[in-house]
Amino acid sequence: MLLDIGVGILLSIFTSNLFGLSLTGSFLISGIIFSLFADIDYIFHLIKGGDSKNAYKHRYLLHYPLLYIPAGIFVISFSNPDLAILFGFCSFAHFLHDSIGIGWGIQWLYPFKKDHYMFLYRYTPPHKERLPWQIIYIWRHDDIDALARKYGDEDWIRNIYWRWHPYAIIEFLTFIIALIVLYFSIR
Ligand SMILES: [Zn+2]
Repeated sequence: MLLDIGVGILLSIFTSNLFGLSLTGSFLISGIIFSLFADIDYIFHLIKGGDSKNAYKHRYLLHYPLLYIPAGIFVISFSNPDLAILFGFCSFAHFLHDSIGIGWGIQWLYPFKKDHYMFLYRYTPPHKERLPWQIIYIWRHDDIDALARKYGDEDWIRNIYWRWHPYAIIEFLTFIIALIVLYFSIR
C-alpha cells in the first residue's frame, strides 16, 4: 500500500512534467487514489466472507488490466484527458507491483487467457518449500489454490510487514523517496 501511494505521488509528478501541467493538490491526490483504486475489490472480498488468508482472491474482480485500464481511461477522459492518462500510468504500475512479490500474479491477458503472470520474485515463507526462481512465472488459474496451499503464507501480513522483510523495506523506502521527490518538486 505504501509503495502504491509512493508510486502514485511519483507518477503524478512525472505526468505533470510530461504534459507541462502544474502539479495541483487534486492531481496529486488523484494519482494516489488511482494507484490504490483497483484494490477496492478487497472490500467486496471481505463482504463476501474472505479475509487476509485468502486475500489473493480479491484480485478476481477488478485486477484485469486489459479490461480495467481501457475502461477507466475511456470513462475519465470525458471529464479530464490528463487525469485519464494519469489513471492509465497509475493502474499499470499497480498491476506491475501486484505481479512481483506477493499474491499469485495478475491475469494480464484476461479475457483472452486466464493464466496468472508474476515476474522476477515470489515471496515464500521460511517454513515452506521454496519456489524455484524464474524471470516469469506463468500459472494456470485452476492451479492457484493448490499453489497457495503449497507455497503460500496465511500470516503474510505479519511475516512481511511486521517483521521488516526486505520486500517491506523496499516498499517503505519507495514511499520515503516519493515524499523527498515531492518536497523538491513543490518548493
Ligand atoms: Zn492490487
